[in-house]
Amino acid sequence: MLTLAIQKKGRLHDNTLSLLKDCGIRLSNGGKEGLIADADNFPMRVLFLRDDDIPECINEGAADVGIVGENVILEKKKDLKIIKKLGFARCRLSIAVPKNMSIEKPADLQGLSIATSYPEILKTYLKKQNINASIYEISGSVEISPGIGLADAIFDIVSSGSTLLSNGLKEVITVMTSEAVLVGRDLPLEKQTLLDQFVFRIKAVREAERNKYILLNAPKEKLDKITKIIPGMKSPSIIPLAREGWYSIHSVISEDDFWENIEQLKIMGAEGILVIPIEKMVR
Ligand code: ATP
Ligand code: MG
Repeated sequence: MLTLAIQKKGRLHDNTLSLLKDCGIRLSNGGKEGLIADADNFPMRVLFLRDDDIPECINEGAADVGIVGENVILEKKKDLKIIKKLGFARCRLSIAVPKNMSIEKPADLQGLSIATSYPEILKTYLKKQNINASIYEISGSVEISPGIGLADAIFDIVSSGSTLLSNGLKEVITVMTSEAVLVGRDLPLEKQTLLDQFVFRIKAVREAERNKYILLNAPKEKLDKITKIIPGMKSPSIIPLAREGWYSIHSVISEDDFWENIEQLKIMGAEGILVIPIEKMVR
């Protein structure tokens, strides 16, 4: 049995449960109640914890793997392995100061006081930059610290920056970026085999999210050029249409190149372009 620690509630919770669902892992209670749930169709037990406790729990062997933000792993300074980046809960951890304060480079932080919930990450950063600054640890509402005279600056999580703005702050230095990751430790063979199966499923789900299935019609003389733009996994399928000289091309394209590809395809004479989500994808 593989024991997975996930966040009980908060920003990681919903995406984590959806990922398990997309991986075909069904929790006995739907993940809705209690602190422990067993999957009824995969040898997995899920522990619901505060995200701060997940690294320790894995380190101590109570869980085999966990899903948590990279920032929490760094903050807790546990020697864990990042197994797979999961692409959600993307954010950055930045230093922010009041709007009218001028900070242009890390050295300008010298002598300031900085409030944060992530003292270890900040300490490591300041040390690397050779900066002496005092750190105030505060567990929440970090953004109000400069306004109430608690600190000159803050070091906190930023995603859109709107919270900073509404507190009269501006982001001046990005210290790290973070996203949710699957993290773990060395495991005995039997558990490692289960972990490999779990990771295989995660990869199939993530690949599918990043790609789209595309169908389009094109005249025979355009086939060569069009198939070069959408080469697909091995090569596209080309199926003759009932109308003489016309073909339907089926392929896979990456979400990242999507708009650019569609424009090119139109210019090249593709018609009736359909783009469909993929549920799972195994290369
Ligand atoms: P817990 O109660 O489990 O301790 P928490 O309050 O510490 O939860 P959340 O606010 O739920 O944490 O955030 C969990 C993780 O999501 C953070 O550690 C970070 O990696 C990421 N995160 C936090 N804020 C944002 C945001 N605004 N946008 C995107 N990701 C974020
Ligand atoms: Mg937390």
